[in-house]
Amino acid sequence: MARKKEKFIRSVPVLGHEMPVEYNVSQANLKADPDEVVSAMYDDSKRKILMSKAPFSAGADSDLLHEVLHAVLDISGFRQKMDSKEEEQLVVLLENALSILIDFKANLYT
Ligand SMILES: [Zn+2]
Repeated sequence: MARKKEKFIRSVPVLGHEMPVEYNVSQANLKADPDEVVSAMYDDSKRKILMSKAPFSAGADSDLLHEVLHAVLDISGFRQKMDSKEEEQLVVLLENALSILIDFKANLYT
């Protein structure tokens, strides 16, 4: 089946900040520990989202949603009120809740 001409997401507006999204980022540039495999990260110093995957590849949409949520918590100031474990739990919770709506919307419009 031919893919529709789709534009992939190059940046995401997060609370007034246009957040660039980079794809196909190497593990070295994801600042991963040598033993750790990281699929994506939110770089809070550069306010950028770095993705190891290519646009439209399997799981890229959920990785992007996950990192956008980290960015929302950072820019809103909520991230600074919790430790990194609590932050990760909240991000995963919101990711799961919101992905249901995103799937629903995608089914409505495609
Ligand atoms: Zn995370």
